[in-house]
Parts: sequence; C-alpha cells; structure tokens
Amino acid sequence: MQKLLLGDEAIAQAAIDAGMSGVYAYPGTPSTEITEYVQASKLAEERNIHSDWAANEKTAMEAALGMAYAGKRSMTCMKHVGLNVAADNFMNAAITGVNGGMVVVVADDPSMHSSQNEQDSRFYGKFAMIPVLEPSNQQEAYDMTYGAFELSEKYKVPVMIRVTTRIAHSRAGVITKELKPQNNQSLPSDPRQFVLLPSIARKQYKVLLGNQDHFNAESENSAYNHYFEGEDKSVGIIACGLGYNYLREILPEGDCKYPVLKVTQYPLPEKQVKQIANETEKLLVIEEGYPMVEEMIKGFLEKEPVTGRLDGTLPRDGELNADIVAAALGIQTGSKESKVPDFVANRPPSMCPGCSHIDVYNALNEALAAFGQGRVFSDIGCYTLGALEPFNAINTCVDMGASVTMAKGAADAGLVPAVTVIGDSTFTHSGMTGLLDAVNENSPITVIISDNESTSMTGGQDSSALGRLEAICQGLGVDPEHIRVLNPIKRNHDDMVKVMQEEFDYDGPSVIIPRRECIQKAARRRKMEAKQKAKS
Ligand code: SF4
Repeated sequence: MQKLLLGDEAIAQAAIDAGMSGVYAYPGTPSTEITEYVQASKLAEERNIHSDWAANEKTAMEAALGMAYAGKRSMTCMKHVGLNVAADNFMNAAITGVNGGMVVVVADDPSMHSSQNEQDSRFYGKFAMIPVLEPSNQQEAYDMTYGAFELSEKYKVPVMIRVTTRIAHSRAGVITKELKPQNNQSLPSDPRQFVLLPSIARKQYKVLLGNQDHFNAESENSAYNHYFEGEDKSVGIIACGLGYNYLREILPEGDCKYPVLKVTQYPLPEKQVKQIANETEKLLVIEEGYPMVEEMIKGFLEKEPVTGRLDGTLPRDGELNADIVAAALGIQTGSKESKVPDFVANRPPSMCPGCSHIDVYNALNEALAAFGQGRVFSDIGCYTLGALEPFNAINTCVDMGASVTMAKGAADAGLVPAVTVIGDSTFTHSGMTGLLDAVNENSPITVIISDNESTSMTGGQDSSALGRLEAICQGLGVDPEHIRVLNPIKRNHDDMVKVMQEEFDYDGPSVIIPRRECIQKAARRRKMEAKQKAKS
C-alpha cells in the first residue's frame, strides 16, 4: 500500500506495522508528530498500542525500556535536547540491553528552527555504542524503522533512528509492508540482565563491546550503505543521511561521475570508507549536523585531504541544502536566491492576542518595578516570548526546568526576590525537583507556574499536571498559605500585582499559579465538543 506521509508519520506507521506495543514520548519539535500519528491511528487503537504522553523524555525512555524488558516492542521519541534529559537511561539501556525490540527516535534540529542548540544525536549513538540508522528520505524512514526492531531483537540492544527537521516535516509517498503481530509478553532469559550492579554491569558491558564487530559487519553489509562507482577519481563523496538526498538532487545516480559512498547506517562502514579514500584523490563529506564522520575519518585514514564542514568547504553551522552541496562541488545550479518581496512585513514571533501569559507578564513587570531588571528566570514554552518587546520580562531561558534551579542559585547568591516563570507542562517535566531543592533549603524564591492547562508550544498536548498543580506543590512541601491561585485576566491586574508583591516579601519558597486555558486549545476543544454534540 502507498501512503503520503511526513517523515515522522512514516516512522510511526512503520512502528505500528512492525508490531510495536507502545510509544513513549514528551512533545518536542520536530518529533511530536510521531506520537500524535499513533494517537490518531485507528489501527493503533484496535491493537491497543499505548501512546499517552510522558512527563519528560527520561520517564518516556524508562517506560519504553520497561516494555522491552517485558518482551514487547517499544519506541521512544524525542527531540535532540530531550535526549540530554534521557541520557542517563539511554547510556545504561545500551548496557542492560533489551528483551523485546526497542527503538529510540531522535529528531535533530540543525539551524535551530525551534531549539536552543544544534547538537547532533549521532554522537550519542556512538557514545552508547549502539547501531544508529539515519534515513535519507521518507521511504527509508519507514523501512529502517520497520527493520530497526529486528536489528534490536537480533542483538538485544536499543537501536537509534536519527532524523532531522527537513525529513521529519516533509511529505513523500511511502510503500508500507505487511502488518506483523505484536510480541507476546516474556521475561528476559537472563534474570540478572537488567540489574546493573557493578559486577553484572561489567559483564554486560563486555557483551556490548563484543557486539561492536557485529554492528560493524551489519553496517558493511547493510542494504542502506552503498558504494557507487564513478570514473572521475579527483573527488570521492561520502554522503550521510539527508546529505545523500541533497547530493542526488543535484547529481542523480546516472549523472554523477564521482565515486559516492552513501552512509545511512552506523557504526561507520570502515572498509567502504577506506575503499573510497584509496581510490580517490580527496574526499568531500556531506553530513547534516556536526562534522562527525569527517572528524572520524581524519582519525583513521592516513591520507589527507578530507574536506567538508570542518575545513569550510561546507558551512560549519546551519542546515545544508542542494545549492550548498552544489557549490561545494563547484557546480552551478542556476537557482537564484529568492528575495523576500518588500510587501512581506517582518513579523517577529509573538504571543497570541488574549493569551494568559500576557496578563501574567504585565502584572509581573509592575510588581518587580521597584527592584529593577535581571531577576526573572524563565523556561521553555510560549511564555519564553516574554523576553521580547513589549514585555522584556525575562532574563534567562537555558533548558527545561532550569528556571527554578537557577532562581534558587541566584537567591543563594543574595539576589532576592528571585522569580521563576515556568509553564505547567515544563514544571512537571523537570521543574518539580528544583522546587523540592528550594523547599529543602527554604530558599526565598517565587515560582510562577503559568498554567494554561496545556503543552501549547508543541500543539496543545495535555500536561502531566492537569488539575493537580496545587496538590503537587503541597506534596513537595510548599506551605499551602504560599500557594496562590490567580485568574490572569486584565480585570484582576491589581490583585495579581498585590499577590506577587506579597510573595516576594515571603522569606521562603512560594508558588503562584495564574490559571487560564490556552485560547488556542480552548478553541480546538470547543470545536471538538460541537462536533461530538452534532454527532449525538
Ligand atoms: S498558543 Fe496558547 S499559550 Fe501559546 S501564545 Fe497562543 S494562547 Fe498563549
């Protein structure tokens, strides 16, 4: 059957078809659509495939590992910075190994379209010493995900799929495969496999090391890594993942006179790399993300030069495209840089008119006016736009949850009042533990949890804290008298300023919860309710 699918959707469909029993994820662009596709899939519903959102990427990966422990096939999905959160479990999952197949999908965001950095997750795969698959198009995203479960079960190790924004969010026809049954529940044959006591972990680590030759052989023989002959040996091209797609846009297979090595499965197929290096005068490495392959081959080839992102033949940062690759090969594409017409106005990002965060920032700015600037530690969500005009209301945004712990550190340094602004979803993702630290030391910080009952920045997924924020804060030890709930509307501006000032004066951790549903989510909800009403 052929379907028109986003790269993300191709991954989701492949996992369903391959017999997956559960997907575990926290929303993060550009990976969110994978889980959303499973959630909307009738087939997934019929097959009872688990697909609820997790509190964060670490809990998602741990749950996926638990499902794989029980013998079923599981998948966990995240954006690249999410893998930092899940890295503790990820590194150890490579040591425990798996029982049922487990696939870790990581969507990187070169050019930082909606991220705070450009990190390249292939390094994590190499760091954990597990196989990494990097599809060059949507069909490969499907086929490689389908095959990744087999590879994972064959070697009893998690397998990583790495995609980037361009492939995750563009659409192409994808031919699907047969639908496989789900695995039966089963326990690991070695009951100690998952117990990482040092003596067992050392044994398991040797198993992982012992598998490296097999992973290399899998890469050397992979149908996805391919050596294409070429008569002009002045340049050999190593094209990785989506970089291969860009290359073929400008030099289709029949028209390319240079030898090409396509790399979409790692570890790097060393024999093929040596072959192309020996047969050509110099190498050009085309890879999306960091110059990982370029650096690696400089390490094991005796011969120079190797060119690519490191020597400036390709730009060191940002996304590649076919024109950039063409220029590196000295090819004129004739495509002209398209200029933005003058009538297109410059529109900086801004919060939706009527958003509750606007009322929160207006009140916060007034409440803090007497103390001056530099005291507001914020986090990642729509409210991060409070950094821009006209609010200029926040001073930091570093990583999920950092607002609370940075405010605590600043208060420890004597910056009082120190204020946190964090969303309800981000608070449960990784703000809660920071608040516990503040409670344990009675740190004088004010945590504003701007509760719009949603993970709005990624499309309005439910937050793990829905309806339970006060109880969670109380459970963490915040004095109930200093958990203040507000309705952030214009009419309540003066009350909000007063409550904020009262809590700034309190010598301990306090929480203010301005609560109003995200207006975009509310509109979608009302539409759904009207539809359902019309049906019944
Ligand atoms: S999507 Fe919702 S939370 Fe985000 S800016 Fe718009 S109204 Fe505010």
